[in-house]
Amino acid sequence: MMQFKIGLATLELIRGNIVEQDVDAIVNAANETLAPGGGVSGAIHRAAGPELAEACARIGGCPTGEARITAGYHLKARHVIHAVGPRYSGNPRDAELLASAYRSSLLLAEQHGLQHIAFPSISTGIYGYPLDEAAPIALATCRDVVQSHSEIRLVRFVLFDEETFQAYVRAAQNLGLIPVD
Ligand code: ADP
Repeated sequence: MMQFKIGLATLELIRGNIVEQDVDAIVNAANETLAPGGGVSGAIHRAAGPELAEACARIGGCPTGEARITAGYHLKARHVIHAVGPRYSGNPRDAELLASAYRSSLLLAEQHGLQHIAFPSISTGIYGYPLDEAAPIALATCRDVVQSHSEIRLVRFVLFDEETFQAYVRAAQNLGLIPVD
């Protein structure tokens, strides 16, 4: 585990399963239809129960780069924020859309008074975003939002495998984030 200070907030990198996180909201790497699908989304929907897919169906969808919020149902987390990252295409707009998915999620958390948020590595699985490009975008975007919105106290990245975890550790070091000892 690694922790970094950003003003009053903590940014954490851990290896683990996002489904198990006891935070105010976990973020789902969703698709535009908000239908369950595979990867982290499948795991979150299985753990939350069928009510989650019903709530997503009522919302009806979400454009790439945006986010929507639902209850967490049977999860420990009270809320799920469904963020839609881009499918990697190699176009410069990918980076904007990825940053926007993180930014939208944190702004939504803030609007709902949520202080502790856990993210997976959005877009780096089925959506094919190269890890070493995605990790610095994820961390820099969260750092910037947290610096300007002091209500959020914890942003935890829950990284499923060692390769992903190491890419985020490198990105944090390259960004000059300050480790907590
Ligand atoms: P996307 O379609 O946005 O690429 P994926 O779910 O395919 O989303 O992958 C995003 C990341 O989530 C990948 O690094 C994948 O290994 C990871 N992942 C899969 N299951 C879990 C889980 N239960 N908790 C945290 N991360 C997970």
